[in-house]
Amino acid sequence: MAIESRRLDIVIDGRPLRYWWRDWEQTEWQITIPVPDLVTRLSTSSPRAALQQLRQLKGPGVGHAPTRAELFYCATCFDVSEGILSVEVSRTTEAVTWRALGWKDEEQDGDADALISNATDFLFDPAAYDSALSDARAEFRRSRRSRRSWHWLG
Ligand SMILES: [Zn+2]
Repeated sequence: MAIESRRLDIVIDGRPLRYWWRDWEQTEWQITIPVPDLVTRLSTSSPRAALQQLRQLKGPGVGHAPTRAELFYCATCFDVSEGILSVEVSRTTEAVTWRALGWKDEEQDGDADALISNATDFLFDPAAYDSALSDARAEFRRSRRSRRSWHWLG
């Protein structure tokens, strides 16, 4: 029995984040550029990496300094050397805020010259945000357990 692999995408207001991102990049070009083919790590084939990404996306506690969370990776190697799209996450009692979308590489994460300058800031309702994360977490906890039992059977 094979375990079907599924990957979650990041969707904001019903629109995949990669489309928002394509539009920000698009303004710099005369030609139509393709939607980026980078992916999240939110795949049932890598529950450990998925849970780690979800922990980053949770962001800091209220009143704590902002942290950066990884969003999209090279679909083949997931390596930082290919660049990882990341975002700054901060939290108040009213909102979880994403700002300063940009590229992370081996040297830096969120330096001014690695930011997508016209990217929109996103504000999320904290309760809705945390509930989306916790739904996703449940998904990967489940698949991690089923992988373990699969391992014993094998
Ligand atoms: Zn790669």
